[in-house]
Amino acid sequence: MKKRFLALALAAMTAFSMAACGSSASSETSSDAAADTSTDASASTDTASSDTSTDASASSSGRTLDEIKADGKIIMVTNAEFEPFEYKDGDDIVGIDVDIAKAIADELGVELEISDIAFASCIPALQAGKADFIAAGMSITEERKKNVDFTDNYFNASQAIIVPVDSDIASRTDLNGKTVGVQTGTTGDSYCTNEDGSSDISVGEVKRYEKAVDAAQDVISGRIDAEVIDNFVADKLVEKNPDKIKKLDEALTEEQYAMALPKGSELTAKFNEILKSLQDSGKLDEIESKYLSAE
Ligand code: GLN
Repeated sequence: MKKRFLALALAAMTAFSMAACGSSASSETSSDAAADTSTDASASTDTASSDTSTDASASSSGRTLDEIKADGKIIMVTNAEFEPFEYKDGDDIVGIDVDIAKAIADELGVELEISDIAFASCIPALQAGKADFIAAGMSITEERKKNVDFTDNYFNASQAIIVPVDSDIASRTDLNGKTVGVQTGTTGDSYCTNEDGSSDISVGEVKRYEKAVDAAQDVISGRIDAEVIDNFVADKLVEKNPDKIKKLDEALTEEQYAMALPKGSELTAKFNEILKSLQDSGKLDEIESKYLSAE
C-alpha cells in the first residue's frame, strides 16, 4: 500500500506542488515551538487540551469522523521548525504538510487547526487526545508503529549531513568521534545515538536540539562538527547559509514520511483515500513543487 506513494515520490523526487495557499489554518504560533506540550501556551488558546469540545478523545483511538465534523475542525499537531514541511511565515504556519493537511480538512469539510509543539511531544499529544493527527515530516518507524497508526507514505526522505564549507568531514564515517547535532527524538537522533544498532558509525557526542536551525547555527559557529537532519530540511538550511555550510551527498537512511493517527483510528482509511485522490489529481505534486528548492 505504500508502493503507490513510493512510486510517486520516486518519479517526482523533487516534485509535489500546489498553489493552494497553505496556511489559512487557524494556526497557533503564539507559543514557542520548542515548548513542550505541558507548557505549550497553545493549550490555552483553543487547540490542544482543556477545551471539552476538542479534548474529546475518550477512547484511545481518537475522535471519530462524526465527532470531528460536529466540532467543525480537525486538529493537527506538528513542530513548525522543519522547513519546507512546516515552518512559520509571519503568524502563519505553512509548508508541504500544512497544505496537504489543509486539503484533507477541506475534503472533510472542516477547518484545520494547528498545534505547534516540540517534535518529541507530538506522539504523546496524539495519545493524550490533544490532537487528531500528526503531520510533521514524521518517518515511519517500527518503534512509532507501536504507538500510532501511519497513513500511506506521501514522501521519501533520508538523513543528511551538514558541515562547515571548509570541513574535512566528507562522509558518514568521518563523523566517528565527532560532535554531532540532531533534533531531539528524530530518526537522525536515533541514527547518531545508534539506538537500534542499525548505523555503522560511532559518533563521539550527540548534541540534541529542539530546532534544526539551532544545530545549524552551532555548526556555523564551530560549536559542533556536523548536524544530521532530514535531507530536504538540510537543503533549506544550506540555502540560507551557502557560504558557511554545505550538505554532503551521502544519504544515511531511507525513510518514508506519513501522517500519524491514534492507534485504531477510523480516520486512517479516510486519510488514505484522500491522499490517494490528491495524488491522482496531481495536487500532491503541486504542493511539493511549491515548497521544494529547484535543483
Ligand atoms: N523525519 C524525522 C523523524 O521522523 C524528523 C522529523 C522532524 O523533525 N519533524 O524523526
